[in-house]
Amino acid sequence: MPSSTLNKATKTPASQGFESSVYGPVTSWRVGSSLGVDLLLQTSTCSFNCIYCQLGDIQLKTIERKIYVPTEQFETDFKNSDWEKSDIVTLSGSGEPTLASNISEVIHFIHEYSAKPVMILTNGTTLADPAVRRDILNADVIAIKLDAATDAGLQQMNRPVAGVTLQSIVSGAQAFQQEYKAANPNGKLCLQCMVMPTNLASVEAMADVAASIGADEIQLNTPKRAYPLVWDLDSRGNHGERDIPTRTLRVITPDEAREIQEIFTAKNPNATVTSVYREG
Ligand code: SF4
Repeated sequence: MPSSTLNKATKTPASQGFESSVYGPVTSWRVGSSLGVDLLLQTSTCSFNCIYCQLGDIQLKTIERKIYVPTEQFETDFKNSDWEKSDIVTLSGSGEPTLASNISEVIHFIHEYSAKPVMILTNGTTLADPAVRRDILNADVIAIKLDAATDAGLQQMNRPVAGVTLQSIVSGAQAFQQEYKAANPNGKLCLQCMVMPTNLASVEAMADVAASIGADEIQLNTPKRAYPLVWDLDSRGNHGERDIPTRTLRVITPDEAREIQEIFTAKNPNATVTSVYREG
């Protein structure tokens, strides 16, 4: 098990740029073969700094929307990728994908060029902005992170940039779900809940918050992969064990996961509730 006394994320040469904004496909327990799109690319960039993030300590903590990767560059990278081998194209990469203000153009291009479904993994912090909600309406699957039921829990698990509150995320998600159902009835809204001993006591309240959003699917997870203590671009893929210093995180047990799944299912009878432990 890799470990280290390092306590501060540092850049590696891979973070200096010139890599592709498209990577994989990588295999995901949730969606199968997924081609990754990274619209941030140059460094880890997010409005959260989750305690379990596979990118390690986020280097650029921001909620600023702008073009980080020009659309033309993305299009070239996509055309040169193994996109035909993928079941789905996932926008996540080196941080929060909705910070890329060209995300709508990118979704449009993927649909037109490849006809592959598009999934967006978002932390929900930008959904209070109607322009962001409009930009992602055409995506086929939207997965919103939900790890807390209070602002104190949000600070513990996700450590957002200033100004982000649980209420701003939840009301943005609720508004998005209404607009999404109207504009894109085939679209699927998922919630991704990371559960650790840190937030285990909040699962009942989290299940209530989930019910207020009305997601189609709730995916329960626990951080089986260790927390990287350095950042490199490979962090954006699903690489399992890597030769970098990491810190093992405390996870919930399969029995706890089963109980949590029952709680979420009881409070969200119209949603499909899945668990990371479902495959044993
Ligand atoms: S929202 Fe995602 S990318 Fe951002 S810090 Fe959390 S896990 Fe990392």
